[in-house]
Amino acid sequence: MDADQPTASAIAVANGRILAVGSDAEIEPLAGPETRRIAGEGRSLLPGFVESHLHLFSGAAELDDLHLTHVHGLDALTREVRNYAAAHPDAPFLMAQHADYAVISQSERVTRHHLDAILPDRPFAMMAADHHTVWANTLALEAAGILHGRRLGPGNEIVMGDDSLALGELREFEAFASVLMLTGKGRAGLGLSTGGEPDPLPSPEEREADRAILRKGLAYAARHGITSLHNMDGNFYTLELLTEIEAEGALTVRAKVPFHFKAFMETADLDKASLMAETYRSDWISSGFVKLFYDGVLDGWTALMIDPYADKSDWRGEPLFAPERFDDLACEIDRRGLQIAVHAIGDGAVRAVLDAYERAREANGERDSRHRIEHIEVTTAADIPRFAELGVVASMQPPHPPGAMDFPVEPTASMIGRERWPWSYPWRTLKEAGALVSFSSDWPVADISVLRGIKAALTRKPWADDMPGQSFTLHEAIEAYTAKGAYAGFADDRLGSLKPGYLADFVILSSDIEAVTPHEIDTLDVAMTVCGGKVSYDAATSG
Ligand SMILES: [Zn+2]
Repeated sequence: MDADQPTASAIAVANGRILAVGSDAEIEPLAGPETRRIAGEGRSLLPGFVESHLHLFSGAAELDDLHLTHVHGLDALTREVRNYAAAHPDAPFLMAQHADYAVISQSERVTRHHLDAILPDRPFAMMAADHHTVWANTLALEAAGILHGRRLGPGNEIVMGDDSLALGELREFEAFASVLMLTGKGRAGLGLSTGGEPDPLPSPEEREADRAILRKGLAYAARHGITSLHNMDGNFYTLELLTEIEAEGALTVRAKVPFHFKAFMETADLDKASLMAETYRSDWISSGFVKLFYDGVLDGWTALMIDPYADKSDWRGEPLFAPERFDDLACEIDRRGLQIAVHAIGDGAVRAVLDAYERAREANGERDSRHRIEHIEVTTAADIPRFAELGVVASMQPPHPPGAMDFPVEPTASMIGRERWPWSYPWRTLKEAGALVSFSSDWPVADISVLRGIKAALTRKPWADDMPGQSFTLHEAIEAYTAKGAYAGFADDRLGSLKPGYLADFVILSSDIEAVTPHEIDTLDVAMTVCGGKVSYDAATSG
Protein backbone atom coordinates (compact mmCIF):
# COMPACT_ATOMS: atom_id res chain seq x y z
CA MET A 1 0.00 0.00 0.00
CA ASP A 2 3.02 2.27 -0.48
CA ALA A 3 3.10 3.55 -4.05
CA ASP A 4 6.86 4.21 -3.77
CA GLN A 5 7.53 0.62 -2.79
CA PRO A 6 4.60 -1.68 -3.57
CA THR A 7 6.34 -4.90 -2.50
CA ALA A 8 9.23 -5.88 -0.26
CA SER A 9 10.54 -9.03 1.41
CA ALA A 10 11.47 -7.78 4.88
CA ILE A 11 10.32 -5.31 7.50
CA ALA A 12 11.99 -4.05 10.67
CA VAL A 13 10.03 -2.88 13.68
CA ALA A 14 11.14 -1.06 16.82
CA ASN A 15 9.31 0.78 19.61
CA GLY A 16 5.92 0.13 18.08
CA ARG A 17 6.79 1.67 14.73
CA ILE A 18 8.09 0.54 11.38
CA LEU A 19 11.82 1.18 11.14
CA ALA A 20 12.40 0.09 7.55
CA VAL A 21 10.85 -1.89 4.70
CA GLY A 22 13.03 -3.43 1.99
CA SER A 23 14.99 -6.45 0.85
CA ASP A 24 16.36 -9.08 3.25
CA ALA A 25 19.86 -7.70 2.66
CA GLU A 26 18.78 -4.18 3.57
CA ILE A 27 16.84 -5.14 6.69
CA GLU A 28 19.03 -7.89 8.19
CA PRO A 29 21.82 -5.52 9.44
CA LEU A 30 19.21 -3.64 11.54
CA ALA A 31 18.67 -6.69 13.78
CA GLY A 32 20.35 -6.70 17.18
CA PRO A 33 21.03 -9.60 19.57
CA GLU A 34 17.61 -9.22 21.23
CA THR A 35 15.65 -8.88 18.00
CA ARG A 36 12.86 -11.35 17.50
CA ARG A 37 12.95 -12.68 13.93
CA ILE A 38 9.80 -14.01 12.27
CA ALA A 39 10.35 -16.00 9.10
CA GLY A 40 7.73 -15.12 6.49
CA GLU A 41 8.38 -18.21 4.40
CA GLY A 42 6.59 -16.92 1.35
CA ARG A 43 3.43 -15.90 3.17
CA SER A 44 1.78 -12.52 2.60
CA LEU A 45 2.37 -9.74 5.10
CA LEU A 46 -0.12 -6.89 4.73
CA PRO A 47 -0.89 -3.69 6.65
CA GLY A 48 -3.15 -4.47 9.60
CA PHE A 49 -6.80 -4.44 8.55
CA VAL A 50 -8.79 -1.30 9.32
CA GLU A 51 -12.37 -2.38 10.03
CA SER A 52 -14.13 0.87 9.25
CA HIS A 53 -17.64 -0.10 10.38
CA LEU A 54 -18.52 -2.55 13.13
CA HIS A 55 -20.22 -2.84 16.52
CA LEU A 56 -17.67 -4.22 18.96
CA PHE A 57 -19.59 -4.26 22.26
CA SER A 58 -22.93 -5.62 21.04
CA GLY A 59 -21.21 -7.96 18.59
CA ALA A 60 -19.12 -9.50 21.34
CA ALA A 61 -22.18 -9.80 23.60
CA GLU A 62 -23.92 -11.86 20.90
CA LEU A 63 -21.16 -14.39 20.37
CA ASP A 64 -22.84 -16.92 22.70
CA ASP A 65 -26.38 -16.50 21.33
CA LEU A 66 -27.92 -19.03 18.95
CA HIS A 67 -26.72 -18.24 15.40
CA LEU A 68 -29.10 -18.98 12.53
CA THR A 69 -26.98 -18.16 9.47
CA HIS A 70 -27.97 -20.56 6.66
CA VAL A 71 -30.90 -22.00 8.66
CA HIS A 72 -33.91 -22.24 6.33
CA GLY A 73 -37.37 -23.73 6.73
CA LEU A 74 -39.62 -24.17 9.75
CA ASP A 75 -38.29 -27.66 10.51
CA ALA A 76 -34.66 -26.56 10.61
CA LEU A 77 -35.54 -23.49 12.68
CA THR A 78 -37.54 -25.59 15.14
CA ARG A 79 -34.68 -28.04 15.56
CA GLU A 80 -32.08 -25.31 16.14
CA VAL A 81 -34.17 -23.35 18.64
CA ARG A 82 -35.26 -26.41 20.65
CA ASN A 83 -31.69 -27.75 20.80
CA TYR A 84 -30.42 -24.38 22.00
CA ALA A 85 -33.20 -24.11 24.58
CA ALA A 86 -32.41 -27.61 25.88
CA ALA A 87 -28.72 -26.74 26.14
CA HIS A 88 -29.55 -23.56 28.13
CA PRO A 89 -32.21 -24.75 30.60
CA ASP A 90 -31.61 -21.91 33.08
CA ALA A 91 -31.42 -18.95 30.69
CA PRO A 92 -34.26 -16.56 31.59
CA PHE A 93 -34.45 -15.31 28.00
CA LEU A 94 -33.38 -17.07 24.80
CA MET A 95 -32.02 -14.98 21.98
CA ALA A 96 -31.07 -15.97 18.44
CA GLN A 97 -29.13 -13.95 15.86
CA HIS A 98 -28.91 -13.82 12.08
CA ALA A 99 -32.42 -15.00 11.26
CA ASP A 100 -33.11 -14.68 7.55
CA TYR A 101 -36.13 -12.54 6.61
CA ALA A 102 -37.32 -15.53 4.59
CA VAL A 103 -36.34 -18.08 7.26
CA ILE A 104 -39.69 -19.89 6.98
CA SER A 105 -40.42 -19.31 3.31
CA GLN A 106 -40.17 -16.67 0.60
CA SER A 107 -43.91 -16.03 0.77
CA GLU A 108 -44.58 -15.93 4.50
CA ARG A 109 -43.06 -13.73 7.23
CA VAL A 110 -42.47 -15.14 10.70
CA THR A 111 -45.10 -14.35 13.35
CA ARG A 112 -45.28 -14.96 17.08
CA HIS A 113 -47.55 -17.90 16.30
CA HIS A 114 -44.74 -19.72 14.48
CA LEU A 115 -42.40 -19.01 17.37
CA ASP A 116 -45.02 -20.08 19.95
CA ALA A 117 -45.34 -23.39 18.12
CA ILE A 118 -41.56 -23.84 18.33
CA LEU A 119 -41.18 -22.68 21.93
CA PRO A 120 -44.42 -21.92 23.80
CA ASP A 121 -43.19 -21.92 27.39
CA ARG A 122 -40.05 -19.75 27.44
CA PRO A 123 -39.52 -16.18 26.19
CA PHE A 124 -37.68 -16.28 22.88
CA ALA A 125 -36.77 -13.72 20.24
CA MET A 126 -34.62 -13.72 17.15
CA MET A 127 -32.84 -10.85 15.45
CA ALA A 128 -32.47 -10.43 11.69
CA ALA A 129 -28.90 -10.41 10.41
CA ASP A 130 -29.14 -6.68 9.63
CA HIS A 131 -30.13 -5.99 13.28
CA HIS A 132 -33.10 -3.86 12.24
CA THR A 133 -35.88 -6.41 12.84
CA VAL A 134 -36.68 -8.72 15.77
CA TRP A 135 -39.31 -11.47 15.87
CA ALA A 136 -40.55 -12.40 19.34
CA ASN A 137 -42.87 -15.09 20.72
CA THR A 138 -45.91 -14.23 22.81
CA LEU A 139 -44.14 -14.67 26.18
CA ALA A 140 -41.35 -12.33 25.08
CA LEU A 141 -43.83 -9.70 23.80
CA GLU A 142 -45.76 -9.91 27.07
CA ALA A 143 -42.63 -9.64 29.21
CA ALA A 144 -41.52 -6.62 27.18
CA GLY A 145 -44.94 -5.02 27.63
CA ILE A 146 -45.64 -4.61 23.92
CA LEU A 147 -48.14 -7.39 23.15
CA HIS A 148 -50.84 -4.70 22.86
CA GLY A 149 -48.59 -2.39 20.83
CA ARG A 150 -47.00 0.92 21.85
CA ARG A 151 -46.71 4.42 20.41
CA LEU A 152 -43.31 4.83 18.67
CA GLY A 153 -41.36 7.49 16.81
CA PRO A 154 -41.41 7.67 12.98
CA GLY A 155 -39.65 4.88 11.14
CA ASN A 156 -40.31 2.31 13.89
CA GLU A 157 -43.17 -0.21 13.92
CA ILE A 158 -44.66 -2.96 16.04
CA VAL A 159 -46.54 -4.89 13.36
CA MET A 160 -50.08 -5.54 14.62
CA GLY A 161 -52.35 -8.48 13.76
CA ASP A 162 -56.07 -8.50 12.97
CA ASP A 163 -56.71 -9.37 16.63
CA SER A 164 -55.19 -5.99 17.70
CA LEU A 165 -52.27 -7.84 19.27
CA ALA A 166 -48.66 -7.57 18.15
CA LEU A 167 -47.94 -10.07 15.39
CA GLY A 168 -44.38 -10.64 16.54
CA GLU A 169 -42.41 -8.62 13.98
CA LEU A 170 -40.71 -5.54 15.47
CA ARG A 171 -39.17 -3.10 13.00
CA GLU A 172 -36.29 -0.84 14.08
CA PHE A 173 -34.64 -0.05 17.42
CA GLU A 174 -37.48 1.66 19.30
CA ALA A 175 -39.81 -1.20 18.46
CA PHE A 176 -37.58 -3.92 19.91
CA ALA A 177 -35.58 -2.01 22.57
CA SER A 178 -37.76 -3.37 25.40
CA VAL A 179 -37.25 -6.94 24.17
CA LEU A 180 -33.46 -6.53 24.08
CA MET A 181 -33.48 -5.24 27.68
CA LEU A 182 -34.78 -8.68 28.71
CA THR A 183 -31.64 -10.41 27.43
CA GLY A 184 -29.55 -9.16 30.35
CA LYS A 185 -26.98 -7.69 27.95
CA GLY A 186 -28.66 -4.31 27.66
CA ARG A 187 -25.53 -2.32 28.62
CA ALA A 188 -23.59 -3.74 25.66
CA GLY A 189 -26.33 -2.52 23.32
CA LEU A 190 -26.82 0.98 24.78
CA GLY A 191 -24.36 2.66 22.41
CA LEU A 192 -26.55 1.43 19.58
CA SER A 193 -30.07 1.60 21.03
CA THR A 194 -30.03 4.98 22.80
CA GLY A 195 -26.47 6.31 22.62
CA GLY A 196 -26.87 6.95 26.36
CA GLU A 197 -25.01 5.88 29.49
CA PRO A 198 -25.95 3.00 31.81
CA ASP A 199 -28.42 4.05 34.50
CA PRO A 200 -28.08 3.03 37.30
CA LEU A 201 -24.30 3.13 37.34
CA PRO A 202 -22.95 -0.42 36.90
CA SER A 203 -21.46 -2.10 39.97
CA PRO A 204 -17.73 -3.03 39.91
CA GLU A 205 -18.78 -6.63 39.11
CA GLU A 206 -20.97 -5.48 36.22
CA ARG A 207 -18.14 -3.31 34.89
CA GLU A 208 -15.79 -6.28 34.98
CA ALA A 209 -18.39 -8.44 33.19
CA ASP A 210 -18.65 -5.75 30.50
CA ARG A 211 -14.87 -5.47 30.18
CA ALA A 212 -14.78 -9.24 29.72
CA ILE A 213 -17.27 -8.92 26.83
CA LEU A 214 -15.13 -6.21 25.21
CA ARG A 215 -11.89 -8.18 25.71
CA LYS A 216 -13.54 -11.09 23.95
CA GLY A 217 -14.56 -8.82 21.05
CA LEU A 218 -11.05 -7.34 20.79
CA ALA A 219 -9.50 -10.82 20.70
CA TYR A 220 -12.00 -11.85 18.04
CA ALA A 221 -11.04 -8.83 15.90
CA ALA A 222 -7.29 -9.43 16.36
CA ARG A 223 -7.80 -13.08 15.41
CA HIS A 224 -9.12 -11.80 12.06
CA GLY A 225 -6.14 -9.54 11.39
CA ILE A 226 -7.84 -6.32 12.48
CA THR A 227 -5.58 -3.72 14.08
CA SER A 228 -7.88 -0.66 13.90
CA LEU A 229 -11.63 -0.47 14.15
CA HIS A 230 -14.21 2.24 13.74
CA ASN A 231 -17.02 1.41 16.10
CA MET A 232 -20.33 2.61 14.69
CA ASP A 233 -22.20 3.07 17.96
CA GLY A 234 -20.98 4.50 21.19
CA ASN A 235 -21.16 6.29 24.52
CA PHE A 236 -18.74 7.36 27.26
CA TYR A 237 -19.18 3.98 28.94
CA THR A 238 -17.63 2.14 25.99
CA LEU A 239 -14.70 4.59 25.92
CA GLU A 240 -14.19 4.26 29.68
CA LEU A 241 -14.15 0.46 29.55
CA LEU A 242 -11.66 0.50 26.67
CA THR A 243 -9.46 2.88 28.65
CA GLU A 244 -9.56 0.50 31.63
CA ILE A 245 -8.58 -2.38 29.32
CA GLU A 246 -5.73 -0.26 27.94
CA ALA A 247 -4.51 0.38 31.49
CA GLU A 248 -4.42 -3.41 32.05
CA GLY A 249 -2.18 -3.64 28.97
CA ALA A 250 -4.84 -5.71 27.22
CA LEU A 251 -5.94 -3.36 24.44
CA THR A 252 -4.97 -5.20 21.26
CA VAL A 253 -6.85 -3.18 18.64
CA ARG A 254 -7.01 0.59 18.09
CA ALA A 255 -10.58 1.79 18.52
CA LYS A 256 -12.48 4.85 17.35
CA VAL A 257 -15.83 5.37 19.11
CA PRO A 258 -18.44 7.97 18.12
CA PHE A 259 -21.09 9.93 19.90
CA HIS A 260 -24.36 8.40 18.67
CA PHE A 261 -26.95 11.13 18.06
CA LYS A 262 -30.56 9.89 18.14
CA ALA A 263 -33.60 11.77 16.81
CA PHE A 264 -35.03 12.33 20.31
CA MET A 265 -31.92 14.26 21.45
CA GLU A 266 -31.48 18.04 21.58
CA THR A 267 -28.92 19.80 19.39
CA ALA A 268 -27.15 20.94 22.58
CA ASP A 269 -26.44 17.27 23.37
CA LEU A 270 -23.65 17.61 20.79
CA ASP A 271 -21.62 19.16 23.63
CA LYS A 272 -21.10 15.56 24.69
CA ALA A 273 -19.68 14.72 21.25
CA SER A 274 -17.22 17.60 21.52
CA LEU A 275 -16.23 16.52 25.03
CA MET A 276 -15.65 12.96 23.81
CA ALA A 277 -13.48 14.26 20.97
CA GLU A 278 -11.38 16.37 23.36
CA THR A 279 -11.04 13.61 25.96
CA TYR A 280 -10.17 10.71 23.69
CA ARG A 281 -7.58 11.46 21.03
CA SER A 282 -4.75 8.93 21.26
CA ASP A 283 -3.54 6.49 18.60
CA TRP A 284 -5.24 3.71 20.62
CA ILE A 285 -8.55 5.19 21.69
CA SER A 286 -10.18 8.12 19.97
CA SER A 287 -13.56 9.65 19.22
CA GLY A 288 -14.07 12.78 17.10
CA PHE A 289 -17.09 11.71 15.10
CA VAL A 290 -20.86 11.60 15.36
CA LYS A 291 -22.88 8.62 14.13
CA LEU A 292 -26.50 9.01 13.03
CA PHE A 293 -29.08 6.81 11.33
CA TYR A 294 -31.05 8.53 8.56
CA ASP A 295 -33.15 5.48 7.66
CA GLY A 296 -33.55 1.74 8.29
CA VAL A 297 -33.13 -1.28 6.00
CA LEU A 298 -34.57 -2.60 2.74
CA ASP A 299 -35.89 -5.89 4.12
CA GLY A 300 -38.09 -4.15 6.68
CA TRP A 301 -39.23 -1.48 4.15
CA THR A 302 -37.73 1.06 6.56
CA ALA A 303 -35.04 2.33 4.16
CA LEU A 304 -36.03 5.65 2.55
CA MET A 305 -36.48 5.40 -1.22
CA ILE A 306 -37.03 8.18 -3.77
CA ASP A 307 -39.62 6.06 -5.62
CA PRO A 308 -41.79 3.37 -4.01
CA TYR A 309 -40.52 -0.11 -3.24
CA ALA A 310 -40.85 -2.50 -6.17
CA ASP A 311 -43.02 -4.83 -4.05
CA LYS A 312 -45.00 -2.12 -2.18
CA SER A 313 -46.27 0.40 -4.70
CA ASP A 314 -47.55 2.90 -2.15
CA TRP A 315 -44.58 2.99 0.20
CA ARG A 316 -41.16 4.68 0.13
CA GLY A 317 -40.16 4.36 3.78
CA GLU A 318 -39.71 7.38 6.03
CA PRO A 319 -36.70 9.29 7.37
CA LEU A 320 -35.73 9.10 11.04
CA PHE A 321 -35.07 12.87 10.99
CA ALA A 322 -37.03 15.69 9.31
CA PRO A 323 -34.76 16.86 6.45
CA GLU A 324 -34.54 20.48 7.68
CA ARG A 325 -33.57 19.36 11.16
CA PHE A 326 -31.00 16.98 9.75
CA ASP A 327 -29.45 19.76 7.64
CA ASP A 328 -29.16 21.94 10.75
CA LEU A 329 -27.59 19.11 12.72
CA ALA A 330 -25.04 18.40 9.98
CA CYS A 331 -24.12 22.09 9.89
CA GLU A 332 -23.69 22.18 13.67
CA ILE A 333 -21.62 18.99 13.87
CA ASP A 334 -19.43 20.20 11.00
CA ARG A 335 -19.09 23.64 12.64
CA ARG A 336 -17.70 21.90 15.73
CA GLY A 337 -14.98 20.38 13.53
CA LEU A 338 -16.28 16.86 14.05
CA GLN A 339 -16.64 14.14 11.43
CA ILE A 340 -20.12 12.84 10.55
CA ALA A 341 -20.97 9.22 9.70
CA VAL A 342 -24.54 8.54 8.63
CA HIS A 343 -26.27 5.23 7.99
CA ALA A 344 -28.12 5.72 4.68
CA ILE A 345 -29.39 2.67 2.80
CA GLY A 346 -32.16 3.82 0.44
CA ASP A 347 -31.49 6.24 -2.42
CA GLY A 348 -33.73 8.82 -0.71
CA ALA A 349 -31.61 8.70 2.42
CA VAL A 350 -28.32 8.84 0.49
CA ARG A 351 -29.55 11.93 -1.38
CA ALA A 352 -30.74 13.66 1.80
CA VAL A 353 -27.41 13.08 3.55
CA LEU A 354 -25.42 14.35 0.55
CA ASP A 355 -27.72 17.41 0.55
CA ALA A 356 -26.98 17.97 4.24
CA TYR A 357 -23.21 17.69 3.69
CA GLU A 358 -23.51 20.20 0.86
CA ARG A 359 -25.42 22.58 3.14
CA ALA A 360 -22.75 22.17 5.83
CA ARG A 361 -20.04 23.08 3.32
CA GLU A 362 -21.99 26.15 2.23
CA ALA A 363 -22.51 27.20 5.84
CA ASN A 364 -19.03 26.56 7.22
CA GLY A 365 -16.76 26.63 4.19
CA GLU A 366 -14.71 23.86 2.70
CA ARG A 367 -12.47 21.84 5.02
CA ASP A 368 -10.97 18.36 5.25
CA SER A 369 -14.10 16.96 6.90
CA ARG A 370 -14.11 13.39 5.50
CA HIS A 371 -17.82 13.05 6.28
CA ARG A 372 -18.98 9.53 5.57
CA ILE A 373 -22.05 7.72 4.34
CA GLU A 374 -22.44 4.19 5.66
CA HIS A 375 -23.82 1.38 3.42
CA ILE A 376 -25.23 3.22 0.31
CA GLU A 377 -27.18 0.14 -0.75
CA VAL A 378 -29.20 2.01 -3.36
CA THR A 379 -28.39 5.35 -4.97
CA THR A 380 -28.93 7.14 -8.29
CA ALA A 381 -26.85 8.12 -11.31
CA ALA A 382 -27.31 11.77 -10.33
CA ASP A 383 -25.89 11.29 -6.83
CA ILE A 384 -22.86 9.11 -7.71
CA PRO A 385 -20.57 12.03 -8.74
CA ARG A 386 -21.51 14.05 -5.65
CA PHE A 387 -19.37 11.81 -3.43
CA ALA A 388 -16.16 12.95 -5.13
CA GLU A 389 -17.40 16.54 -5.45
CA LEU A 390 -18.12 16.80 -1.73
CA GLY A 391 -15.20 14.62 -0.59
CA VAL A 392 -17.59 12.16 1.07
CA VAL A 393 -16.23 8.75 2.09
CA ALA A 394 -18.31 5.82 0.80
CA SER A 395 -18.17 3.28 3.64
CA MET A 396 -19.37 0.02 2.10
CA GLN A 397 -19.54 -3.67 3.02
CA PRO A 398 -18.57 -6.44 0.56
CA PRO A 399 -20.51 -9.08 2.56
CA HIS A 400 -23.80 -7.13 2.31
CA PRO A 401 -25.07 -7.31 -1.30
CA PRO A 402 -27.62 -10.10 -1.53
CA GLY A 403 -25.89 -13.09 -3.10
CA ALA A 404 -22.35 -11.79 -2.46
CA MET A 405 -21.67 -13.76 0.72
CA ASP A 406 -24.14 -15.06 3.32
CA PHE A 407 -27.29 -13.08 2.44
CA PRO A 408 -29.67 -14.59 -0.12
CA VAL A 409 -30.56 -12.66 -3.28
CA GLU A 410 -34.27 -12.74 -2.41
CA PRO A 411 -36.39 -11.12 -1.16
CA THR A 412 -34.09 -8.07 -1.21
CA ALA A 413 -33.40 -7.87 -4.96
CA SER A 414 -37.12 -7.89 -5.75
CA MET A 415 -37.82 -5.21 -3.15
CA ILE A 416 -35.21 -2.97 -4.78
CA GLY A 417 -36.64 -3.64 -8.25
CA ARG A 418 -34.79 -4.20 -11.48
CA GLU A 419 -34.65 -0.56 -12.52
CA ARG A 420 -32.57 0.32 -9.48
CA TRP A 421 -30.20 -2.69 -9.72
CA PRO A 422 -27.50 -0.82 -11.68
CA TRP A 423 -27.21 1.64 -8.76
CA SER A 424 -27.37 -0.94 -5.98
CA TYR A 425 -24.31 -1.57 -3.78
CA PRO A 426 -22.31 0.34 -6.42
CA TRP A 427 -18.75 0.01 -5.06
CA ARG A 428 -17.00 0.13 -8.41
CA THR A 429 -19.28 2.73 -9.97
CA LEU A 430 -18.54 5.02 -7.01
CA LYS A 431 -14.82 4.29 -7.09
CA GLU A 432 -14.65 5.02 -10.82
CA ALA A 433 -16.51 8.28 -10.19
CA GLY A 434 -13.64 9.29 -7.88
CA ALA A 435 -15.22 8.45 -4.53
CA LEU A 436 -13.08 7.14 -1.72
CA VAL A 437 -14.46 3.67 -0.92
CA SER A 438 -13.55 1.97 2.37
CA PHE A 439 -14.60 -1.60 3.21
CA SER A 440 -15.85 -3.26 6.37
CA SER A 441 -18.15 -6.02 7.65
CA ASP A 442 -20.60 -4.16 9.90
CA TRP A 443 -20.06 -7.09 12.28
CA PRO A 444 -22.18 -8.56 13.86
CA VAL A 445 -24.45 -7.83 10.87
CA ALA A 446 -22.07 -9.88 8.70
CA ASP A 447 -19.16 -12.21 9.41
CA ILE A 448 -16.18 -10.20 10.69
CA SER A 449 -13.72 -12.19 8.53
CA VAL A 450 -11.78 -9.75 6.33
CA LEU A 451 -10.52 -12.59 4.14
CA ARG A 452 -14.10 -13.65 3.41
CA GLY A 453 -14.93 -10.00 2.76
CA ILE A 454 -12.06 -9.72 0.27
CA LYS A 455 -13.30 -12.85 -1.46
CA ALA A 456 -16.82 -11.36 -1.67
CA ALA A 457 -15.40 -8.13 -3.11
CA LEU A 458 -13.53 -10.05 -5.82
CA THR A 459 -16.16 -12.62 -6.74
CA ARG A 460 -19.36 -10.55 -6.68
CA LYS A 461 -21.58 -11.32 -9.69
CA PRO A 462 -24.25 -8.98 -11.13
CA TRP A 463 -27.87 -10.11 -10.62
CA ALA A 464 -28.53 -9.60 -14.36
CA ASP A 465 -26.47 -9.33 -17.53
CA ASP A 466 -27.30 -5.66 -18.07
CA MET A 467 -26.10 -4.67 -14.61
CA PRO A 468 -22.58 -3.25 -14.34
CA GLY A 469 -20.00 -5.44 -12.60
CA GLN A 470 -19.05 -4.06 -9.17
CA SER A 471 -16.22 -6.39 -8.18
CA PHE A 472 -12.82 -5.10 -7.03
CA THR A 473 -9.36 -6.40 -7.87
CA LEU A 474 -7.32 -7.97 -5.07
CA HIS A 475 -5.18 -4.87 -4.62
CA GLU A 476 -8.20 -2.55 -4.64
CA ALA A 477 -9.93 -4.70 -2.03
CA ILE A 478 -6.88 -4.81 0.25
CA GLU A 479 -6.53 -1.05 -0.13
CA ALA A 480 -10.20 -0.56 0.84
CA TYR A 481 -9.58 -2.67 3.98
CA THR A 482 -6.33 -0.86 4.91
CA ALA A 483 -5.20 2.49 3.45
CA LYS A 484 -8.69 3.77 2.61
CA GLY A 485 -10.00 2.83 6.04
CA ALA A 486 -7.06 4.69 7.57
CA TYR A 487 -8.02 7.74 5.50
CA ALA A 488 -11.65 7.47 6.63
CA GLY A 489 -10.38 7.48 10.22
CA PHE A 490 -8.00 10.47 9.74
CA ALA A 491 -5.06 8.12 10.38
CA ASP A 492 -3.56 7.73 6.90
CA ASP A 493 -0.49 9.67 8.03
CA ARG A 494 0.42 6.86 10.45
CA LEU A 495 -1.33 3.62 9.53
CA GLY A 496 -2.92 1.68 6.68
CA SER A 497 0.38 1.35 4.77
CA LEU A 498 3.76 -0.18 5.55
CA LYS A 499 6.23 2.71 5.50
CA PRO A 500 9.09 3.77 7.76
CA GLY A 501 7.77 5.78 10.71
CA TYR A 502 4.27 4.34 10.48
CA LEU A 503 2.74 2.43 13.40
CA ALA A 504 3.80 -1.22 13.34
CA ASP A 505 0.37 -2.67 12.57
CA PHE A 506 0.42 -5.66 10.24
CA VAL A 507 -1.01 -9.09 9.58
CA ILE A 508 0.72 -12.25 8.31
CA LEU A 509 -1.54 -14.63 6.39
CA SER A 510 -1.21 -18.42 6.29
CA SER A 511 0.10 -18.32 2.71
CA ASP A 512 0.52 -16.08 -0.35
CA ILE A 513 -2.75 -14.29 -1.11
CA GLU A 514 -1.57 -13.45 -4.65
CA ALA A 515 -0.95 -17.11 -5.43
CA VAL A 516 -4.57 -18.26 -4.99
CA THR A 517 -7.69 -17.68 -7.10
CA PRO A 518 -10.32 -15.24 -5.79
CA HIS A 519 -12.55 -18.19 -4.87
CA GLU A 520 -9.77 -19.67 -2.72
CA ILE A 521 -9.07 -16.57 -0.63
CA ASP A 522 -11.20 -17.84 2.23
CA THR A 523 -9.03 -20.96 2.44
CA LEU A 524 -6.31 -18.66 3.79
CA ASP A 525 -6.26 -17.81 7.45
CA VAL A 526 -4.62 -15.22 9.66
CA ALA A 527 -1.32 -16.58 11.00
CA MET A 528 -0.29 -13.59 13.11
CA THR A 529 -1.53 -10.10 13.89
CA VAL A 530 0.80 -7.40 15.20
CA CYS A 531 -0.54 -4.10 16.52
CA GLY A 532 1.82 -1.35 17.65
CA GLY A 533 4.72 -3.79 17.39
CA LYS A 534 3.10 -6.28 19.80
CA VAL A 535 1.73 -9.66 18.77
CA SER A 536 -2.04 -9.44 19.29
CA TYR A 537 -2.81 -12.84 17.77
CA ASP A 538 -0.61 -15.82 16.94
CA ALA A 539 -2.22 -18.89 15.39
CA ALA A 540 0.74 -20.98 16.53
CA THR A 541 -0.01 -20.36 20.22
CA SER A 542 -3.80 -19.88 20.19
CA GLY A 543 -6.08 -22.83 20.72
ZN1 LIG B 1 -23.62 -0.82 11.49
